[in-house]
Amino acid sequence: MGLLGAHVSTSGGIYNAIENGEKLKCKSIQIFTKNQMRWKARKLEDKDIELFKLDWEKSGIDMILSHDSYLINLGSPDKNKSMKSIKSFKDEIYRCKLLGLNGLIFHPGAHMGKGEGYCISKIAENLNIIIEEMENPNIKLLIETTAGQGTNIGYRFEHLRDIIDSVKCKSSIGICIDTCHIFAAGYDIRTEKGYKKVLDEFDTIVGTDKIEAFHINDCKSEYLSRVDRHENIGAGNIGIKLFEVLCNDSDFANIPMILETPGGEKYYKKNLEILKGLIK
Ligand SMILES: [Zn+2]
Ligand SMILES: [Zn+2]
Repeated sequence: MGLLGAHVSTSGGIYNAIENGEKLKCKSIQIFTKNQMRWKARKLEDKDIELFKLDWEKSGIDMILSHDSYLINLGSPDKNKSMKSIKSFKDEIYRCKLLGLNGLIFHPGAHMGKGEGYCISKIAENLNIIIEEMENPNIKLLIETTAGQGTNIGYRFEHLRDIIDSVKCKSSIGICIDTCHIFAAGYDIRTEKGYKKVLDEFDTIVGTDKIEAFHINDCKSEYLSRVDRHENIGAGNIGIKLFEVLCNDSDFANIPMILETPGGEKYYKKNLEILKGLIK
């Protein structure tokens, strides 16, 4: 069984995430370390960091990951936006380090009409700048698979491989697989056979040893739609079988499996109950 958990709120103070995770009996959680819809970030106060770390230590939560701001686009063809993204991403890493988090999950980027090849090179180039300027951040940067909505790249495993190939410090990079996104992108994981086939493909192209997290979401949008709409476990177009197979896959026993399903805490609780019920 993976480290089951959910994306929880930090509303009222960053340390509240721990309590929110504990209430749900999460073994892992994901948080935003700042408002994900704004460029500006409030400084993390020393006393808040201390409280966060203290509460985490006392909790049953093994791993905490952060998700970066939705505004960041490391593949932007616009020079200003690209610079702004680098600066903001470095700040995200810095905040993760202050809090002692286990990793930072990010969407690779969107080409905005400039083309996928350009975008992939730009992302790798910017990651190299970031890693160098942060003097090897010593925190895992996890590229999230996307549904390929709009001009987003990361909806093919080859995109992930090509980015990693051009990053100098490969040990800094891992992958977060979002089940909803890969399904919407055209990887059919509805059956055990399908799951195994897709993972084999991932292993050949990227390597399953790079997988450091899962976002476990069912999918409201259709297979191959390239539309990113999450759904509660078992209620979407993927269906329950995948989650049974994934939660029981011993290869991912110690990997965070984080819910980002709609409806908030009440639904998280229900989803976690469903998932725990699937474990053999
Ligand atoms: Zn995401
Ligand atoms: Zn999504």
